[in-house]
Amino acid sequence: MPRDGTGNEDREREVTKATVYFCPVYDGIEPADQAQKMAHLIDRAAMAELINPSEYVAVKVHVGEKNNTTHVRPEVVREVVRAAQDKGGQVFLTETATLYKGERDNAVRHILHAVRQGFTVERVGAPFIMADGLNGSSEIEVQIDSGQLHRRVKIAREAAVADVLIAISHPTGHMLSGLGATIKNLGMGLASRQGKLRQHAALKPEIRQQSCRRCGKCSEWCPARAIGPTSGGGFQIDGSQCIGCGECVAVCRFDAVKYDWGADAAFMQRSMAEHALAVVAGKGGKCMFFNVMVNMTRDCDCFGVEQTKIIADIGILASTDPVAVDMAAIDLTARANGRSLAALAYERQDAMIQINHAEAIGLGTTDYRLVTV
Ligand code: SF4
Ligand code: SF4
Repeated sequence: MPRDGTGNEDREREVTKATVYFCPVYDGIEPADQAQKMAHLIDRAAMAELINPSEYVAVKVHVGEKNNTTHVRPEVVREVVRAAQDKGGQVFLTETATLYKGERDNAVRHILHAVRQGFTVERVGAPFIMADGLNGSSEIEVQIDSGQLHRRVKIAREAAVADVLIAISHPTGHMLSGLGATIKNLGMGLASRQGKLRQHAALKPEIRQQSCRRCGKCSEWCPARAIGPTSGGGFQIDGSQCIGCGECVAVCRFDAVKYDWGADAAFMQRSMAEHALAVVAGKGGKCMFFNVMVNMTRDCDCFGVEQTKIIADIGILASTDPVAVDMAAIDLTARANGRSLAALAYERQDAMIQINHAEAIGLGTTDYRLVTV
């Protein structure tokens, strides 16, 4: 049942509550201490019970774009790898290619960049294997009977092949989805290139000529070369080339690039939730989701700039329910700051769209029990 803020849903709900384990941290926590907290949480959340000897264990990470320093640290990921290996799992770190141009837009660049960011076998203990192949096209089509937008979606192949999936997510704000945490890490982060394009399909920005200062920055950043000059010296977007990545919105300092925020971004959030459902389908519940609520920034770790956190560090969450773990991230950040991370980052985006849709299609529940460890 979607939340409406009245509390009635809590009384009426009869479904079993999900359990979300919460390990609090002090603000400014050092990576070594984060790793210690993660080890404790892994133990209390009984992550190892999901794994049988020799099973393939995919650990979804995000190594951060060039210059990003706020992503989840290799030391923290190391603890997950170690615990999975102790149970005899064949563990690999995994990711997919980005749609936009950057350090992570194909397997070669992505893996070399991951090494530069410290995600080496020596440091983390597991190899880095791209879930979507060399250039994002290694995919598998998954049927999702409960999907409301899609009946079949394309996800990264190796994510589907793995026996166990562990996603380590870093909650941040996001200009299109409001919140970028576990649902986004699964739905967008483990979709193939085609899957990602489909989620962005409705996003078609336009440049408002009266606000445009003609600096050309959007054109420089556009990964699809979809922004070109007008005869009058301004800039315009070629809708047939645009892949809906949203980079132009992010880089324009003059608020001249406009979306239909309501319709376009809502589609993306719902589509993202449906892709997330496809990623966990077939795993038989052998999944665990961590939200590392440290160094939470306004924009996601895909931004190639150093960002400053916008709220104090809170702790690490773990759950086998991807909806509950994101709901808890929203609730805990709201409790600590008056407004949630998503609302503080991008007030105009309603992050509950992805969460309520995910719940409606059966990805998980917003009804959870928080267990502090
Ligand atoms: S970044 Fe903004 S101001 Fe600059 S050219 Fe693009 S739309 Fe115009
Ligand atoms: S026009 Fe904007 S949204 Fe479209 S591909 Fe270029 S940067 Fe991305």
